[in-house]
Amino acid sequence: MEENEQEHIEEIAGHIKAIIGLLGEDAEREGLLKTPVRAAKALWYATSGYRCEPEKIITQALFEHEGSQIVAVKDIEFYSMCEHHILPFFGKVSIGYVPDGKIVGLSKLARVVNVYARRLQLQERFTAQICESVRRYVGAKGVMVVCSGEHLCMKMRGVEKQDSSTTTMHYNGVFEDAALRAEFLSMLR
Ligand SMILES: [Zn+2]
Repeated sequence: MEENEQEHIEEIAGHIKAIIGLLGEDAEREGLLKTPVRAAKALWYATSGYRCEPEKIITQALFEHEGSQIVAVKDIEFYSMCEHHILPFFGKVSIGYVPDGKIVGLSKLARVVNVYARRLQLQERFTAQICESVRRYVGAKGVMVVCSGEHLCMKMRGVEKQDSSTTTMHYNGVFEDAALRAEFLSMLR
């Protein structure tokens, strides 16, 4: 860990300790003594996407490819935090793209999903950012991303039925064609 990271984590831990007190707890209680640092490290990890570049991840694993059919990766698991409540939301992302001479290593798509997930997010923007970055950095003819997520800010606060989920979709390029979108969606079934 870099020195600068250590300083950030210690400062975050100090704020968390203050929050614990403001919530009405005794931050000096034995079970809570190490909590501020643990929670700060967990938050630092959950936001590590701010310190990663999707462009670098994708461009280091591009391969020549002549095909022009959809390449799809289904059900990539993600864990993120909503920017409105800083509470988790999590679910699955499926990515389909039509290559234009190049494909990207499949594991890199999962890493790109993680980079955007590990930031304070809105599911809508998360879905769009994955889609636009794959388009740009893979140089695809078009990309379509479907995301389903469960939001603890909804479930815990009881503003929504407990078993509901949110689905978001984003597409560009050749996926403007409804037939191609239908083909991708049928691959997901
Ligand atoms: Zn929220």
